[in-house]
Amino acid sequence: MRKIRTYGEPILRKKAEEVKDIDDKTLKLINSMKETLLKAQGIGLAGPQVGVSKRIFITYDKEKENFITLINPVILEKNGYEIDIEGCLSFPEIFFSINRAKKVIVKGINEKGKEIIVEANGIIARCFQHEIDHLNGILIIDYATQNEKNFYKEKLEHLLQKSKK
Ligand SMILES: [Zn+2]
Repeated sequence: MRKIRTYGEPILRKKAEEVKDIDDKTLKLINSMKETLLKAQGIGLAGPQVGVSKRIFITYDKEKENFITLINPVILEKNGYEIDIEGCLSFPEIFFSINRAKKVIVKGINEKGKEIIVEANGIIARCFQHEIDHLNGILIIDYATQNEKNFYKEKLEHLLQKSKK
């Protein structure tokens, strides 16, 4: 289990580094990210959210009970657009409406070091885009309107205060 970093912590704003080799340390990190994600009942988690500025993310498909791990992911194609409510484990109890592609094709490396191409739709496509944003230091609040930010003002300020401790 790893501690989930929340809004205000500088690591969430750093551009994460490419993973050069998938060694034991990387595999241990991925396993601990899976445990952390299940425990938090989330659908996606990126390296920086657990304090590791590396280009790795995992998603968990609740219906299929299946993890997808992507290392050094790149979006190859985006199709269609859809606005939906989105949360983030780094922003507990905060939700913003975000316009994302409905369908994406993403290329990356899996845990075995093999290059894979994954096509995703709906919630998993949204999750891929969200997690890749994390690897570039982009957070859901960057898409929020002023009204949305005002609505969550107290919660956001609380997170910022917490991050300074
Ligand atoms: Zn997130």
